[in-house]
Amino acid sequence: MTKVRFAPSPTGKLHVGNVRTAIFNYLFARKSGGTFVLRIDDTDVERSTQAFEDGIRADLTWLGISWDETFKQSDRFDRYAAAAEKLKAEGLLYPCYETGDELDRKRRLQMANGRPPVYDRAALALTDDEKAAFEAEGRKPHWRFKLSGNPVQWDDMVRGHVSIATSSLSDPILIREDGSYLYTLPSVVDDIEADITHIIRGEDHTTNSGAQIEIFEALGGKAPLFGHQALLVGADGGKLSKRLGSLGIQELRDAEGLEPMAIMSLLAKIGTSDPVDAFADVDGLLEGFDLGKLSRSPARFDDEELKRVNAKLLHAMPYAAAQPRLAELGADKGEAVWEAVRPNLEILADVKAWAALIDGPVTPVIEEADYAAVAADYLPAGELDSDSWSVWTNALKEATGRKGKQLFMPLRLMLTGEPRGPEMAVLLPLIGRETVLKRLAGEAA
Ligand code: GLU
Repeated sequence: MTKVRFAPSPTGKLHVGNVRTAIFNYLFARKSGGTFVLRIDDTDVERSTQAFEDGIRADLTWLGISWDETFKQSDRFDRYAAAAEKLKAEGLLYPCYETGDELDRKRRLQMANGRPPVYDRAALALTDDEKAAFEAEGRKPHWRFKLSGNPVQWDDMVRGHVSIATSSLSDPILIREDGSYLYTLPSVVDDIEADITHIIRGEDHTTNSGAQIEIFEALGGKAPLFGHQALLVGADGGKLSKRLGSLGIQELRDAEGLEPMAIMSLLAKIGTSDPVDAFADVDGLLEGFDLGKLSRSPARFDDEELKRVNAKLLHAMPYAAAQPRLAELGADKGEAVWEAVRPNLEILADVKAWAALIDGPVTPVIEEADYAAVAADYLPAGELDSDSWSVWTNALKEATGRKGKQLFMPLRLMLTGEPRGPEMAVLLPLIGRETVLKRLAGEAA
């Protein structure tokens, strides 16, 4: 039974980079009929906040990502303590007394001598008396996991064969002087006890995985399968720092007015061998989802592409799907108006401005009063319908000899006050005969 987890730290907001990991885990679980767990990595009690946690849950829900199970690491400190005791008893977790400054000095010296700054394991050689002396000085130990020194290898679902030489890594610190846990050990304990089968996360964790696989084994667990996806970069291949890419999901929703499925569609597809398209729902994304399609090189996140996907999604959105959102915006004018303005939308809230061309009041722009008068004369009789625009403009063409822009643009300006907008043929019957005549007479209506 497949079981995956998304494990954000509630020390900040969700943004396009970390939410991509959530999307991959969610799609992976859905595709295999497995379980998706939301784990809140809040062992850093100083920096973790309830507000960030609430925000993460709200953002995921808005995106349509729901979890089958959820828990917080801060509820499980006793489990991490038990695991730490087990590792200590096996001599795999050892106390170290160096201060930060001392470690810094060692690293600088190693580098000056052309050696990699790997922890020298001096603490392993401490006698009981030396340890007691440090304790008597008031020093508290931090605890390091003793790596095997052997290469750790696995078949990564994204990166293929990976080999990490643990001999070139420092033994990782699992517990700080103040007794708090770094992320490494709690994550492994949770993954074992929750029966996680696959860990899908960013490639910045690849080296961690080497150490964590040894911790899985030391705790008597079997390491899950891993997939490390390449990180996001900006459209130019540089750092993801500009504009939309650096915004949180909350800003993309509230300030930018983007659709959740636009964000989902783009993030699920960039960096894969599939084309980016606008998917109306998660089912559409599931169909082609396969971690094997992920490229090993970074995925490019382009603001403009996100906006294009958003627009495309809106252009195809049926009224029934849009209606509740329109109602919320106070912009539900019925299906015909939705269909008239939909092709012009970049974001949903644009509905208001385009619908105002129908509802008015519009201040007509009349550059030639005589053309306005002729236009009023030739307006087809009776109720205006979808044919009225072509009947009308054909008649005007005959009567005035105008064509092209000269024929059409003044009409648009007189009827909507704007040089561009939804198709006039669609707007005309919605504006309605009475209002059309008022606007042609120069009246704000
Ligand atoms: N809390 C970790 C992070 O956000 C989780 C990494 C993992 O998936 O194991 O980086």
